[in-house]
Amino acid sequence: SKSEIGLIGLGTMGAMLSLNIAEKGFAISVFNRTTSRTSEFHAEAGELAEQITPCDTLEDLVASIAEPRAIILMVPAGGAVDEQIAALRPLLGKDDLIIDAGNANFRDTEARAAQAEADGVPFLGIGVSGGEEGARHGPSIMGGGRKKAWDQVSHILTAIAADYEGTACATWMGQGGAGHFVKAVHNGIEYADMQMIAEIYGIMRDGQGADAATCAEAFETWNKGPLQSYLIEISGKVAAARDAETGNAVLDIILDRAGQKGTGRWTVIEAQHLGAPIPVIEAAVAARNLSAMKSERERGEATFGAAPVPLPTGALGRDDLEQALIAGKIMCYAQGFHLLNSASAEFEWDLPMPEIARVWREGCIIRSTMLNDMAEALTGAPQDNLMFAPFFAKLIDDSAPALRRVVATAVSHGLQVPALAAGLSYYDAMRTGRSTANMIQAQRDFFGAHSFERVDKEGAHHGPWGS
Ligand code: NDP
Repeated sequence: SKSEIGLIGLGTMGAMLSLNIAEKGFAISVFNRTTSRTSEFHAEAGELAEQITPCDTLEDLVASIAEPRAIILMVPAGGAVDEQIAALRPLLGKDDLIIDAGNANFRDTEARAAQAEADGVPFLGIGVSGGEEGARHGPSIMGGGRKKAWDQVSHILTAIAADYEGTACATWMGQGGAGHFVKAVHNGIEYADMQMIAEIYGIMRDGQGADAATCAEAFETWNKGPLQSYLIEISGKVAAARDAETGNAVLDIILDRAGQKGTGRWTVIEAQHLGAPIPVIEAAVAARNLSAMKSERERGEATFGAAPVPLPTGALGRDDLEQALIAGKIMCYAQGFHLLNSASAEFEWDLPMPEIARVWREGCIIRSTMLNDMAEALTGAPQDNLMFAPFFAKLIDDSAPALRRVVATAVSHGLQVPALAAGLSYYDAMRTGRSTANMIQAQRDFFGAHSFERVDKEGAHHGPWGS
């Protein structure tokens, strides 16, 4: 009998996703460019092997899947996706669905969706989060494209997705590139969550002289409170890990140069296009770029002296650090959801805001307890800034003073907290009814006759600048 679905690209993610699909009881056909990998994968699949049909050619793959077919691409984003689509389409029927499940730039997905529309064939772009482990046992899935195409495979996607108290973390987000856009924002938030954790780690390590084991203990403690999340959990685990060879803390032997594949950058670029302020995520992306400038930083340290200096004993307590992370996290998510709202309006996606928070509760990298509270807050007021939801307004009232203490203390001791500082600055900007943009407007009118509005009269006005 024929397979229910096919998958191309048995790399880290594709292999795990295939096993997940097979385990959930769906017969699947698989193909990989390097064919030896296909047989290797099949041989290692154990008892799941009988659910899996290994194929050495695209023709075999297509022939082995029941119509209307659905084929998942799990290849690197970019040219590889276009190549696979070009190779597959001529072999497929009009109703056969291609699903790009890699980390595509949503603009590429929009273009591919438009091409598919023009050709009258179905196409989906889905964001899959959760890394290798998520792909194997339940990722978070953010779908985009025609709803009808989503409905064709939603039974499979919800079956393989992570489960949050009986609800599958897989949702159709909207037309075209909506799913990949939501995935990019997820990744932008992921960058920011990680950066804020790294900043708090820096305060403990460089400001308080804490060793990795002490930092691990702090993260473990926080993981039992409001900060409970996958990223806090793994931060505790990595801080606790020891290098077998040297006996040192693994953290202490890891080079301080962060990698990135570009999804955080895309989020920042799109936020700029949309005029949506996401300064916490921007700071996190900039911090990764700065981390890459290792030799310049070393030169700077030699030239100007090392930046971080120890904090006075007792300057910041563990509670302060926890509260600062809570406040920073809320600011980051408030910005992320605001960006999603802006994109939803601009691209006419009608993004389901509470559903986005819901699919992020399990399976994905940013999963956390707080996302459940966010889902609830957004259910009541999907378009409102998260800061104003009563639950979060209260949490901000409680935690913002600690964020200010932590940022002020860190800055005055050369400890870098760019993302936390951006969060604090956003908080202050958001409660400044009268900003200083009157000065900006005056300057713009002065040099460019751009005009300004007045606080006391309607209309466009010019200043008495003369010529
Ligand atoms: P890998 O590098 O592990 O695997 C890449 C796969 O794509 C291999 O099977 C490779 O085949 C195949 N491939 C590469 N180039 C081509 C090509 N030009 N034509 C056909 N097949 C090709 O990648 P991952 O599994 O990590 O990532 C796949 C996608 O999933 C990417 O878009 C990634 O961004 C995304 N993703 C990854 C996550 C992760 O944690 N790793 C998390 C979420 C999304 P071959 O064996 O022949 O080289």
